[in-house]
Amino acid sequence: MSRSINSKGISFYPRQMDICFSEKCNLNCDYCFVNKTSEKVLDIKKIKSAIDIFLDFPGKNKTITFTTSEPFINPKLFRDSITYIFQEVDKKDVDILVIATTNGVLFNREMQAFIKQLDDRFILNFSLDGKEDSHDAHRKIKNSKNSSFELAIKNFNNFSRKNGYVRIISTIAPDQVNFLLDNVKFIIKQGFLYIDLFPQMFKIWSKKERDVLEGSLNSIVNKINKKETKLDLRVLNRLWGSTHYAKIMLGADGKFYLFEWVLPLEEKHRKLFQIGDYQHINLVKRKKLFELLFNQMSKANKSKCNTCEYNAFCSDPLPLYLWSLYNKYDFLTYFKNFCQISKIMIRISDKIKIKNRTDKSKWDKLLKNKYEENESSLRN
Ligand code: SF4
Repeated sequence: MSRSINSKGISFYPRQMDICFSEKCNLNCDYCFVNKTSEKVLDIKKIKSAIDIFLDFPGKNKTITFTTSEPFINPKLFRDSITYIFQEVDKKDVDILVIATTNGVLFNREMQAFIKQLDDRFILNFSLDGKEDSHDAHRKIKNSKNSSFELAIKNFNNFSRKNGYVRIISTIAPDQVNFLLDNVKFIIKQGFLYIDLFPQMFKIWSKKERDVLEGSLNSIVNKINKKETKLDLRVLNRLWGSTHYAKIMLGADGKFYLFEWVLPLEEKHRKLFQIGDYQHINLVKRKKLFELLFNQMSKANKSKCNTCEYNAFCSDPLPLYLWSLYNKYDFLTYFKNFCQISKIMIRISDKIKIKNRTDKSKWDKLLKNKYEENESSLRN
């Protein structure tokens, strides 16, 4: 079946907003996609105004994420923003989901107490790649030899959240793929049962590494996922949460951007993807930019995705296209790699769908209605 951008669907009104407080981080993870050149930090006035704009868009189900910067670097801003979101959605007819992602190092008792009192509309993602060696191989503390793993694990061991849950976001780097099975076992042993496995998609994997990835994921699904009845395992989650075409991002400079994937670009290049500021947003420009990018990408890869049988389940290589374009990398080389990894993850997702409630509902919906249902659900 030949597909166009309309069947992927650009939602005219965004349904997901990412708030990037700043581009500073306490860690220096080598696979972080944020360019980190900006010195700017958001303030609560801009955040509140952007939240108001976003919540007033038509549509009931909305998601606000704090996933592009370490939120606990700005604890007051974080607490004030979350408090404001819940205060406002209670006045409006909006079903909200708020997701924050932390590396855990600054997750102190004060922040733990704040998060503990939030209800199930809030999810805390903890970036944990597995055992100490695998985790610290890529997640380094700036200007320090201390282990980010030790500090983060200690903080989470002090934290027990009864309502809702903590999800583990585990990045699989190709040089750590041999330890994937052990790393997942370790995470479960720490008492974490909600796990998202996320391979590095912008890194070139060798055939051997890809084979180990698929083999290890199969073992995880067949040996661990079947046995651990309470385990909620997801793959490709971060790219599935909502498609790129449903998003906007509030940058540290108070401007609205197309989506979070402008963050790998230098500031001067991001201007092209500005779609407003904290006081107004240009949704027509947003739609046109997405169409333009999608069409350029399709031209570059000879519309391969449009006819691909995996398309409905694929995380979509649009960010990869933007990233390779601005870095002057060979898009087709990276695209081939992305596609190979994506297909592995989709095959594995298919195997875990029966047990996993989130994947199951998504897959069932897509399978039942083929592409049409997906298209209409993404439109407003
Ligand atoms: S699996 Fe590859 S060809 Fe298919 S939609 Fe994804 S990136 Fe495109």
